[in-house]
Amino acid sequence: MPTRGEVLVVPLGGLGRIGMNWTLYGHDGAWLLVDAGMSFPEEEMEGVDAIVPDPAFLAPIADKLLGLVVTHAHEDHIGAIDRLWPYAINCPIWATPFACRALERRLEEASTLDEVELNSYPVGGSFEIGPFKIRSVRMTHSVPEPVALAIGTEAGTVLHTGDWKFDPAPMVGEPTDFDALREIGDAGVLAMVCDSTNAHKDLEITSEAMVREAFMRLFASRKGQVAICCFSTNVARMASAAVAATASGRHVAITGRSMRNSQENARGLGLLDDVPEFLAEPSHLRGLDRAQTALVCTGGQGEENAALAKLARGDRRLPSFGRGDTVVLSTRVIPGNEEAVEKVCSALRARGVEVLMGADTIDGFPLHVSGHPGANELRELYSLVRPRFAMPVHGTEMHLTAHARLARGAGVEAAIVSEEAEVIRLAQGGARVLGRVDAPKLHLSNDENGNRVPYRAKTATA
Ligand SMILES: [Zn+2]
Ligand SMILES: [Zn+2]
Repeated sequence: MPTRGEVLVVPLGGLGRIGMNWTLYGHDGAWLLVDAGMSFPEEEMEGVDAIVPDPAFLAPIADKLLGLVVTHAHEDHIGAIDRLWPYAINCPIWATPFACRALERRLEEASTLDEVELNSYPVGGSFEIGPFKIRSVRMTHSVPEPVALAIGTEAGTVLHTGDWKFDPAPMVGEPTDFDALREIGDAGVLAMVCDSTNAHKDLEITSEAMVREAFMRLFASRKGQVAICCFSTNVARMASAAVAATASGRHVAITGRSMRNSQENARGLGLLDDVPEFLAEPSHLRGLDRAQTALVCTGGQGEENAALAKLARGDRRLPSFGRGDTVVLSTRVIPGNEEAVEKVCSALRARGVEVLMGADTIDGFPLHVSGHPGANELRELYSLVRPRFAMPVHGTEMHLTAHARLARGAGVEAAIVSEEAEVIRLAQGGARVLGRVDAPKLHLSNDENGNRVPYRAKTATA
């Protein structure tokens, strides 16, 4: 049990792998969980569709686990929630309004919404959970309402950055709250637990505004149909497609359930107030001139059941794409998905479709920008926050090591590259690895439980 003079940090995922971000914080006899995502199996595993930390390992501290705070609505940060709550874990959850809506939908589908305590906190809001005094800070990323969490304790403040970048014009929501970051830094930060995804690269500062400009030029210059393919949670990208389509005299439809849900969630919260309405069904594009139509869809990772693969197969429920039409994969291909993506792209090319990838540009403007900070942005954050200790997370060993080197260069007393399930003790006296806990992984399968755990968890909580 953690004492009053220390903060224990236990990363349960996201280290040495991509995805499954879970971080446990312990202080003064209590525990707090930040994010509960999932990751996908590295190789094909028969029947396995997601990997999460085995919640049975949390059973001994279940009554001391006071809450889960969510930083943003990406699958690698929230994907485990509707599968594990309330069966295996049932602490209250705090999330921003956009993430709350996404979670409500999922829990509703699982018929468990009534059994889970879901609290909403505003971006920039402060709240207390037991001995943890939490202040959320507005950041920018590739989803609405990403926040960093300043977790205040008697032993010092830990800044958990979540996923972030410094986008000066995010298109949905406002830019990063630099004043809040500086204020938190001025008050003194014991440690910063920070995103490492692009730590090994010096990147120019990029913005969703640049992607919007690329879309504007693309839509204006193409004579055929245009489809933009992006993650369903990338509401800014969706908005840019709608704005660019309308500006070039096109009607734009969105397709795919996750895309429609995400759009509705964002619109309901007023995040798309200045953005033209989408046609609800791609079939509403029928009969229009090809130069007057546009489509926004998912499937940029080559997923067989997503709209892009259907477009490539010539599915009759979608507009028929062929010679003169353009498809943009406005996304980065996640390592491991290259083959699936290539398969879909070649099928599209075989139909005569022009296929543009995220790395392509239009008049120098990018069709995709990363949602994570490069080395320059990391250095800027370190100069604002000035933590004593750095804990790189969210990356493979290469990313974590590059991040640690950068942090030392930025003047931290120590940078701790840890592994999943290690217990790191942070205190005024110093930071060190205490040991490791036995935290096995659970492979979730696509079975008659509708993908929700557990048979096992029922025994664990019994
Ligand atoms: Zn992430
Ligand atoms: Zn993210």
